[in-house]
Formats: sequence, C-alpha cells, structure tokens
Amino acid sequence: MLSRTRFAEKSASSVNHTLQVFYCDHHEIPLPPGHKFPLPKYRMLREKLEQDGRFCLEPAPSAYSKTICLAHDAEYVNGFIGGTLPHLVMRRIGFPWSAGLVRRTLASAGGTIAAAENALKHGFGGTLAGGTHHAFRSEGAGFCVFNDVAVAIHWLRSVGRGHRFAVVDLDVHQGDGTAQFFEHDRDVFTVSLHEKNNFPFRKQHSKIDVELEDGTQDEEYLRALDAVLPSVWEFAPELVFYLSGVDALAADRLGRLSLSLEGMKTRDRTVIAGAKARQIPLVVTLGGGYAEPIELTVQAHASTFSIAAEVFGAGDAVEAARESAGR
Ligand SMILES: [Zn+2]
Repeated sequence: MLSRTRFAEKSASSVNHTLQVFYCDHHEIPLPPGHKFPLPKYRMLREKLEQDGRFCLEPAPSAYSKTICLAHDAEYVNGFIGGTLPHLVMRRIGFPWSAGLVRRTLASAGGTIAAAENALKHGFGGTLAGGTHHAFRSEGAGFCVFNDVAVAIHWLRSVGRGHRFAVVDLDVHQGDGTAQFFEHDRDVFTVSLHEKNNFPFRKQHSKIDVELEDGTQDEEYLRALDAVLPSVWEFAPELVFYLSGVDALAADRLGRLSLSLEGMKTRDRTVIAGAKARQIPLVVTLGGGYAEPIELTVQAHASTFSIAAEVFGAGDAVEAARESAGR
C-alpha cells in the first residue's frame, strides 16, 4: 500500500525545468451547434497552463499515417484520412468528418508519442489531448478515432524504445479499445477503473477492471485505486501511460460517480507520485471531462498538471530566478 505521506517528498534528483506539454487545440474541428464534445475545454486548459508559468506549451507534432498503421488497420486509417469512411462508422465515432478533424486527430496521436519520448528522457511527458481509449484496431467510438496509447506503444516497440508498458486508465468510462488491443499481450498491463453502468455497455477485458457503482465517492474510489496500483508497480513497466480523464467528478454530465475536486487531486497525486517514487517514466494524457459548467473540468485537468509540476520539480527554476531578482 502506498503511503500518502511520501508524496510531499521532493526527490534530490528533481530537475529545475519547465514541463513540456503538447497541445493540438489550434486545429479547429467544425462541429454543429449543440454537439456534446467539450471543444472549449482544450483551449481553456492550455491558456490556464500558459499562465501558470511552470509549463512550456508546444504544438503537438502530427503522427504519420504509417505510424498510426502500426496499431490500426490500414484500410480504416486511410479511409479516415481520405474522408471515405462509411457514414455509420463516422457516426459511431461521433464527429462529422472534416480536414480539421484529421489534422487534430493526427496531432493528438503525435502528442502522445512526443510525450512518451519526453517521459523516457526526463521522467515525465504530458499532452493536453489523447486518452482516446474507445478506439479499436478497425473502428472508433465515443469521440475516439485512433487509440493514441496503442499507437505510441506500437511505435515505441518498433523503434526499440521499450517493450513492457502499463496503462492506468482512470477515465470514468472503461478503456475498452485499449483493453482489446492488449488483451493477449503479456507485456502491456492495462488497468481500468470505471463506472459499471456507463458507456461502453459492452465491456472488454483489461488485465484489471474495477467496476464502480453510480454515486461512488472519494474514499471508496481512492481505496479501489490503492488496491490496484501495487500490481502496476510490481509489473515493473518501462513506461506508464496515465489516462487522467476527469469525468469521475460529481459535476460531470456523462459520468455518475461523485468525486470531489480534492478526491481527484488525491487520485492524481497517488498515480503521479507513485510512478516518480519508483522512477518509472510517466506519460499523462487527458481523456474525458464534461462538467457543467466546463470550468470545473478545466480546473480538474489543470490540477492534474499542477501536481505533475510539483512532483517533478518544475518551476524551481522560475522561483529561483524570482528570488535572485528580489521578487
Ligand atoms: Zn470518459
């Protein structure tokens, strides 16, 4: 069991730097009025982190289609990029096709790959996109076209940058696509904590699935998390992908768990500090978050990155410069 008192400790090896975080909200997706996808949250979150001063925000590089094809069926990839997927396939994804959607989708996968490279170099990598865990090899669903984490894992393996990975998926919805990608892969440990009675209604098999009842609150949720994380650490992955969706918040429109913002912070700290304490490189991707008002979701996502900055020692350089300048 992880002791929470250890979380405040700062490692002597903390590096004084700003954390590089990728974004792709500059690629506009034209959506019809009233569409459920929370488009503004991505820009709002990026602006919040830009104001914070501890992050270096970079536009995510686009993934090549051949990189996407390492994980996904080529016919599906080319059909999406060329805009020739059947209407029903696009409807299941939930977005109308547009060139902007293609650009953003490729950047979203590219951001997770770039974040993984950063994690391997510096211990931490972050992206304000990704976590598109409902995407399967030949089809997408639930606002997910390509499975960024599956693409990143296939790419890392293809270039000899790792073989053994873990995926900790704390979005309120099951990471069904990710679970299926790696169901028979002994070297990818997938964990999903999710709401039982929520999309996807046909669940897949992660290595560990924890199904939570509607209305689950902080204490029970954090107990469940504490119960599964030791298995992740014992697996000794070369890199952990953390899907930090914040749709477990009580205020979320698409989730019916009842976590407080404080509960979400403890959740994030448990995962982020847990990986840091064991020197396991960590990639933080977003995932869902649909609170009303959307500011609550943005605040919860910003907290995740704020905790990463604390844990990984970012901002020390900024503070030191302020001190030496007498401010
Ligand atoms: Zn979700």
